[in-house]
Amino acid sequence: MGLKFTNLTRHTEIGANSYYLEIGGHRLLLDCGMHPKNTGENALPNFKAIADSEVDAILMSHAHQDHIGTLPLSMRRFPAARIFMTEATAEVGSVLLHNSVNVMTRQREEIGEMSYPLFTHREIDRASERWRWCPLRQRISVAGERAAQREKDTFTFEFFDAGHVLGSTGVLLRAEGQTVFYTGDVNFDNQTVMEAAVFPEEKVDVLIMECTRGDHAKPEGWTRASEERRLAEALVAAFERDACVLIPVFALGKTQEILAMLYKFRRQRLVSEFPIYIGGLSSKFTDIYDRRAHTTRRQLPRLKLTREVAPFILNDETVRDTPVRGGRVYVLSSGMMIPKTLSNVFARRILENPQHSIFFVGYANPDSPAGLLREAGQGGEVALDPDKRSQRIRCNIQQFQFSAHATRESLIDFAKRISPKKILLVHGDPPAVEWMRATLSNQLSDSDIIVPTPGLEVEL
Ligand SMILES: [Zn+2]
Ligand SMILES: [Zn+2]
Repeated sequence: MGLKFTNLTRHTEIGANSYYLEIGGHRLLLDCGMHPKNTGENALPNFKAIADSEVDAILMSHAHQDHIGTLPLSMRRFPAARIFMTEATAEVGSVLLHNSVNVMTRQREEIGEMSYPLFTHREIDRASERWRWCPLRQRISVAGERAAQREKDTFTFEFFDAGHVLGSTGVLLRAEGQTVFYTGDVNFDNQTVMEAAVFPEEKVDVLIMECTRGDHAKPEGWTRASEERRLAEALVAAFERDACVLIPVFALGKTQEILAMLYKFRRQRLVSEFPIYIGGLSSKFTDIYDRRAHTTRRQLPRLKLTREVAPFILNDETVRDTPVRGGRVYVLSSGMMIPKTLSNVFARRILENPQHSIFFVGYANPDSPAGLLREAGQGGEVALDPDKRSQRIRCNIQQFQFSAHATRESLIDFAKRISPKKILLVHGDPPAVEWMRATLSNQLSDSDIIVPTPGLEVEL
């Protein structure tokens, strides 16, 4: 039986990530994301491309919005599908989806998107009862049962630790002697909390690979340790001019990584005591990191962030009128500074003041407010919220590299090790995907490198 693949994102992009795969007579969805920036229909996977298909199982790689944000919709559309993910992804995902209902309910008013909210709190509660938790490194059948290693022909899947955020995985699919590996979002290097991915080393037939950092070379001499030192020094310099520092972050993953770094800085006395502020959603995810600290593969397993770092919590209202004082660090989501989020509202308060600083620490879509702000730079002008006036950027802007994604060099090395017959490139902006395509075509001349056109079925 053949292998078929359809990319359900609407463009070659990091958007509503979702992929349809037929393997061994089974029909699967890999992830069901929501576009982090678009709204309405444009924020959803393009399910029209598989309008006549049924789905037997939905496999979730991790609980970021761009991978899990439309899971309740997919479950409504494919009521017979079984849903699989790690236990940590289930716990985080449920919190994220409930928060998403609140965001969509607010957007219904703010932008008049009458289809919002796309699902309700009650629907999430009912849906999450049907999620099945899978351990790592265990072959599982489509019925959700442990499968024997020797059964070569029956379809199985197996989750591997992806080292990206709490609960994140890559998935190895086996059927009729064929193998497909989906990386999800991966990091092959240690972060401050997360440990590097442990992915299969065996040869696979088809590799579906993320390309987030495909358009950025690893900076010469970069190490995480030296970058942490640079951040500590930048904080000291900012505090010396009595600046506050805003660090826009994803609520899940980057927040906890930054809190762990700030904890280390204070412990190592690189920086003296200073107050830290985070948002309500981030604090919920931080609690989950803490509760699972002993049962997940990670660094600093005894560190309880909520207790040791003791951040203050801001919400949608307090972020508007909390006094902006020097010597404070605001680690606020969203990472892309989407309008109305804490980081966007707070940034608008400090943007025109040369005393203060904004430190960027990870990926931002180039068209997002964070992307526009980075591009415009100090002295430039930016409208962070289309409903508000544009502003002159007078505050200090600095960039740091603490990506939760693999470097492009490590992605290429991984592809070489497992030497797939075919590689499908996904989850990247067009220049990133193009660099990966050109480089892989050059270095793996026996592999077929494919950039799957969104919405079109690829026979493998
Ligand atoms: Zn992710
Ligand atoms: Zn992603």
